Formats: sequence, C-alpha cells, structure tokens
Amino acid sequence: MLAEPGETAASHWRRRDLEVLWHPCTQMREHPDTLPLLPVARGEGAWLIGHDGRRYLDAISSWWTNLFGHAEPRIAAAIARQAGTLEHVILAGCSHQPAVELAERLLALAPREAGREPLAKVFYADNGSAGVEVALKMAFHWFRNRGIEGRTKFIALDNGYHGETLGALAVGDIPLYRRVYAPLLAEAMFAPSPDAYLCEPGETPADRARRAADALRDLLERHGGDVCALILEPRVQCAGGMRMHDPLYLRLARELCDAHGVFLIADEIAVGFGRTGTLFASEQSGVQPDLLCLSKGLTGGALPLAAVLATQGIYDGFLDDSREKAFLHSHSYTGNPLACAAALASLDILAGDDVVARNRGTAQRMHQLAQPLSDHPHVADVRQAGMIVAFELTRNGNKSTPFESAARIGLRAYRAALERGVLLRPLGDVLYWMPPYCVDEDVLQLLARTTREAIDHAIAEAAACA
Ligand code: PMP
Repeated sequence: MLAEPGETAASHWRRRDLEVLWHPCTQMREHPDTLPLLPVARGEGAWLIGHDGRRYLDAISSWWTNLFGHAEPRIAAAIARQAGTLEHVILAGCSHQPAVELAERLLALAPREAGREPLAKVFYADNGSAGVEVALKMAFHWFRNRGIEGRTKFIALDNGYHGETLGALAVGDIPLYRRVYAPLLAEAMFAPSPDAYLCEPGETPADRARRAADALRDLLERHGGDVCALILEPRVQCAGGMRMHDPLYLRLARELCDAHGVFLIADEIAVGFGRTGTLFASEQSGVQPDLLCLSKGLTGGALPLAAVLATQGIYDGFLDDSREKAFLHSHSYTGNPLACAAALASLDILAGDDVVARNRGTAQRMHQLAQPLSDHPHVADVRQAGMIVAFELTRNGNKSTPFESAARIGLRAYRAALERGVLLRPLGDVLYWMPPYCVDEDVLQLLARTTREAIDHAIAEAAACA
C-alpha cells in the first residue's frame, strides 16, 4: 500500500493500523489523539526501535513477558532450528522431543517442599489465561472424579488478577476488567489481600500477612467444604498495581489449604523465572503449590505458551476407564514445538548466564536509584520485589489522598515518558519498572531520570488542565 503525501514510515503504519486493528486493553477512541500509538519496527535488547530509528526502552518487558531482551539471538536460533524440523503437531496421541524435554526440566526446577509429593506432571496450554482455566478445571474436576460434588467454589484474593477469559475473570478482582462481565461469571469467594500497602499504622507487612491469613482461616472454616482451590499470585499482585506482600502469607495460606483439603494454585505467570529474586516466587515462602501456572517469561517472551504443573496425586485422580473422568481440555496449539524450543533456550540462558544471581545485583542498583523518589511530594510508596519496582502516586504523597481518576496521571506520565524514549505503562497511578534482565547502568539511570521527569510532567499537566 502506497504512503500518502507527507507521511513518515511511522505515521504510515499508524494510519494503516487504525484502519484495521482493534487493540487489547485499549479504549480505541483514545487513539491517536489522547494515546499515541507506537509502531515498532524491531527490537534489540531492552530497546524497541521505531521506523524512524528512534529507540524506546521497554521498561515493562512487553507486558512482563520478556526476560533477556528482544530478538535474543539464542532464542531466535532455537526457534529457527525447530521451525525447520517440526513446526507443530497435535499433542493428543502424538509426542515430540521439545515438549518432553521442557516438561522434564520444568519439573526439575519447580518449587519443592520436604515431605510433600513433588510436582510431577506438566499440562501445556497456549497463554496465561488458558493456563489458569486448566488449573481451575483440574482442581474442580479432581473432586468430581472422587465423587465429591459439593466442592464447586474457588477462593481468590481481593485485588488479584488471573487473566481475561471468563473462568480466569471469575477469580479476578480488578473492577475495570471484571465489572461489566459480572453477570457471566461463576461465583467465587474473595479473601482479603495481604497487600503490605494496606498496612495499618504500626503494622508490619508480616502482621498484615497474619491478619489476611486469619480472614482466610475464617472463610475456610465457614465454607471450606464448598471449596476446591485457593488461587493467588505469590509475592506480587501485578495487574492489581504491583502490590506486594510478605512471603509469610503464602506459608500460612499453604497450611490453611492443607488443613481444609483445598488445593493451592500458585499463579506465577507474571512473577516466575527470576522476576522477584528467586526462580519462582513461591520459593521465598518455602511453599510448593499443588498446581503451578507458568506463562509469559516461560519462552523468554518470544512465543505464547503456558504450562500447568500438577502433583502425581492430582494426575492420578483422572486415571479411569471412563473418558469423562479424563482431563479433556484441549487447545489446538497445546505444547507447540516452536514455543517449547524457545522455552528450552530460555531455560538454558537462565542457567548458563546465572541470571537469578545476576538479577540480585541489578535489583540492588534499582533499589538505590528508586530510593530518592520516595521523597518526592507525590510518591506515597516505593516498593520492590527483585526486578520489580513500583511507585504509588498520590495527591499529597500519602496513602489517603489518591488522585481523582479523571486527572489521568498515569496516562500523562505514559505520554511524557514515551516522548523521552521510555515505554512505561502505568497501572492507574502506579508507575513501575519491570525491565528485561539485560538492562545496564546507563539504562537504569535513564529509567530513574525519566520516571522523575514523567511524574513531574504529569502532575504539572494535570494541574494546568484542572
Ligand atoms: N495471571 C497473571 C498473574 C497475569 O499477570 C496474567 C497476564 N497479565 C495472566 C494470568 C494472563 O495471562 P495472558 O495475558 O497470557 O492470558
């Protein structure tokens, strides 16, 4: 298609895009005037490169998927090799080497607790939400297969997020995504979040974790017999505004699930693979879940894939002569060989480059660079879990004065950062850093500088519009 007179390559692609595409998580009416659309020609390390050659730091790892930078040559080569060998095959009745090897390696790396039967089987799906659906259905179906029909409910946490399909939305608690579909959603029970931002004065994050666990205990004492599983995001509720909690909570929740015969589903889709300081966030609590959901960074961010890891006991609960007792859930692209090959290459990098240990040094530097912002008059909280740092913006810099949502502080900061060559994508009024692991000192300094400028710009612009 020919460029129109006066178009640059970027405006050309922007025009053609808006003629045909409907973007995710976007009020399309805001394009292009309120919300700039960024056509990306290629990626390189932590950078996205526009058609005009301008570089943008991907400070959010492209929705938390990317681990080692864009167009990582080792992952690209693994995909290319696999594409020339076997691009895809039905995984019902067939098998292939990458699916088997990936399952073996994930199970060897998975969190493990002494005295608990380890995670022993891998079920593949093709995105995070689908992985969550798998885990929810498995937990529910396991009880049915044992003739227990009353355990039909899930417990999830306030402010949690598990994806956008109807089953995943039913256990999510972000009103923006959930409210309109509420009439379609299965009823779930919600327990208070251990979110440390919600600490009362004088309360420590561990106190808060204990208080939230007490509320979970009450809920389980009243309704435990109706519940098949508790689902939660260990350590960080990411979509809920990068709200973080003390690892103690998961430990206590694990004990409560055991006491009430309820499965624990850990959704590590966003926090897995070294993001929060350990390979899996559950490790910080010394907890092994019964079902572990993985996606996003599983392939290093190159291809969609999800894996649900289950214990032998859960797997055995589906073995029977009846097909109805089998777990029939299926997606056409389950265990896609290209995605499995990317994941295997990603695991090689994680191990070979000693990424988790290296991330600790990077996280420490992020901490140093983030700290000065805690004195900013509009920053109410700076929090960190490994390679995630979040800044909570409020009117007076204290927790009790949130901005009016109409002030669009996050959106204004987004635009200001983009103009300065950094892709930050705030969650409401929470700005956060969740960069690819390959960021260096210069990049981190740019990120810190731009974050401060974006906040200042957003506040000044909102004040001028008020
Ligand atoms: N669970 C968590 C914790 C997530 O952060 C996300 C995605 N943001 C999902 C599930 C859903 O994954 P996907 O977007 O691949 O469906």
